[in-house]
Amino acid sequence: MSTAEKHHFQAEIQQLLNIVIHSLYTDKEIFVRELVSNAADACEKLRFTQTSGQAVYQPDLPLAISITTEDNSITFVDTGIGMTHGELVENLGTIAHSGTKAFLKQLAEDKKPDAKLIGQFGVGFYSAFMAASKVTVTSRSYLPDEQGWQWTSEGTGGYEIEPANDLPRGTKITLQLKEEAKEFAQADTIERIIKRYSNFVQFPIELNGKRLNTVQAIWGRSKNEIKEEEYNEFYQYIGHDHENPLYRLHFSADAPLAIQALLFVPPRNIEGLGMSRVESEVHLYCRKVLIQSKAKGLLPEWLRFLKGVVDSEDLPLNISRETMQDTSLMKKLNQVLTGRFLKFLDEQAEKDAGTYDKFYEQYNRFLKEGAVTDFTHKEALGKLLRYESSTLEKGKHTSLAEYVKRMSADQKEIYYLIGSNRETLESSPYFEVFKERKFEVLFMFDPWDEFVMEHLHEFEGKTLKSAEKAELDIADASKKDGALSDEAAQALAKWLKDTLADRVGEVRSSKRLVESPAVIMDSDKFMTSSMRRIMKSMKKDSDAESPFKQDLEINPAHPIMVRLESMRHSDAALAGKVAEQVLDNARVAAGLLEDPRTMLKRLNELLEEVLAKKAV
Ligand code: ADP
Ligand code: MG
Repeated sequence: MSTAEKHHFQAEIQQLLNIVIHSLYTDKEIFVRELVSNAADACEKLRFTQTSGQAVYQPDLPLAISITTEDNSITFVDTGIGMTHGELVENLGTIAHSGTKAFLKQLAEDKKPDAKLIGQFGVGFYSAFMAASKVTVTSRSYLPDEQGWQWTSEGTGGYEIEPANDLPRGTKITLQLKEEAKEFAQADTIERIIKRYSNFVQFPIELNGKRLNTVQAIWGRSKNEIKEEEYNEFYQYIGHDHENPLYRLHFSADAPLAIQALLFVPPRNIEGLGMSRVESEVHLYCRKVLIQSKAKGLLPEWLRFLKGVVDSEDLPLNISRETMQDTSLMKKLNQVLTGRFLKFLDEQAEKDAGTYDKFYEQYNRFLKEGAVTDFTHKEALGKLLRYESSTLEKGKHTSLAEYVKRMSADQKEIYYLIGSNRETLESSPYFEVFKERKFEVLFMFDPWDEFVMEHLHEFEGKTLKSAEKAELDIADASKKDGALSDEAAQALAKWLKDTLADRVGEVRSSKRLVESPAVIMDSDKFMTSSMRRIMKSMKKDSDAESPFKQDLEINPAHPIMVRLESMRHSDAALAGKVAEQVLDNARVAAGLLEDPRTMLKRLNELLEEVLAKKAV
């Protein structure tokens, strides 16, 4: 007489199975990955249980996964945690797993069910029915006082459970293959699938007695034993990439925490390609047991492009995943990892500037995000920034440290200018005094740098200063031949202010101009022209005047100013137009002229007058 108990699948499970059996035809092979993952999970759980000191049935049985293929079947055996009668019912027959519900919901929304979803929603076990006409599970729980059970099902109607004696610890799953799934009884097919999906599973996987996964958790091994290909292979596996990483950092530390870490920088910044925000893919392990995949809080947000693993023996094994984020241990890990990675970048930049340039091109925005948001690592981040500079040729970059080394004794601050390109900045009136005095200016083309400079504020004790705000003079500016006298310049400035009225704040004579007739100077101490541009672009809906006034500084040695001073007495109307044009030109130079159309009308009138005069 049979001792088998008959059970029905829960309605949702039956629904799920019907879909699995009747609608999923592509990527059938993923059932292999799913069953191997479950076997590895079971082994990991057993190891976890053992490490935490609990008694375990057959404690000396090594943790391993073995697969055998026969004529029409394939069998997966593991020596993991096993399942009790209750667990068989709950795990393989009900939707106690939240993943199942979400999976069904997703399927209801999708017109075409996709087998890839199976793994995603953790309904992996049922994928066996894509290939099997009948599945037999025998299992013996790790609990010493338990006994073995056999579970069988054809996927429809329900399943049967009966006792099974003398089983070793763990689970054995046999799939009686469907006619159209016979390929999965072939060893080379299975070998290919395992290599593809399960190469880094941490427990030995044998196929018909042959060991398949020889590559393991390499982060625990010593650096000089690991081959370049192994690192690359590991990266490609965890990074879901087919290229090699741009950088790799493998290190271990003992204090303040015992850490082994293997971090990779992918060759490309996916976010930079316009993809959505990337999610950190650094997984947290404790003695090679996975504690949390994609561990939140392990690294700062601005290092979210990193991929890899971090293993720390100091993590309490029983820590729950939810509380993990807040522990002070996690904060400590974060500090150590971030500091170490920044130091690594600094070393790499020194060692191989070419590769660092490539890195910087892809990832500079992340460093800048860090510089603006992360006070703790400000200094280290400052060292990693790179800019073009007035003393270097176009396309070459300097660090702030190199800049400081080049500074002459009479230069006190680090100067920078922000604009859309090098040519604009080199011909900018703000640059003239620096060119004249041979002070180096950093050229920045990314609007974010405005905020970065503001947050860094200083580097190696030197203030970072916008060249627009620098209080620098050209010593003998007004003593040039033909220049206006101080009194004449003052009188012209006063007239300009009267003429331009509300359109400017103050007008004064400048000591910083060489080639330009005039320059806009912001009266707000903190406002630069690039900041004004950013503010303008953010203030889309209103054309209200900025609350800050801009001053105009004039060059008393410039021919336009010299002639304007006399023309304002002889031809006030023309002089007035010239004054307005000078102001608009200064605005153009600062990148601040919003609507050039009124300016164009005036410019055409001026041209007409020039031509009329010449014709006379
Ligand atoms: P998931 O692995 O995402 O939990 P699955 O459908 O793959 O979902 O498996 C369901 C559950 O069945 C697992 O969570 C586990 O409790 C149990 N299980 C499956 N395979 C095994 C196994 N080989 N050993 C022990 N338990 C298993
Ligand atoms: Mg699973």
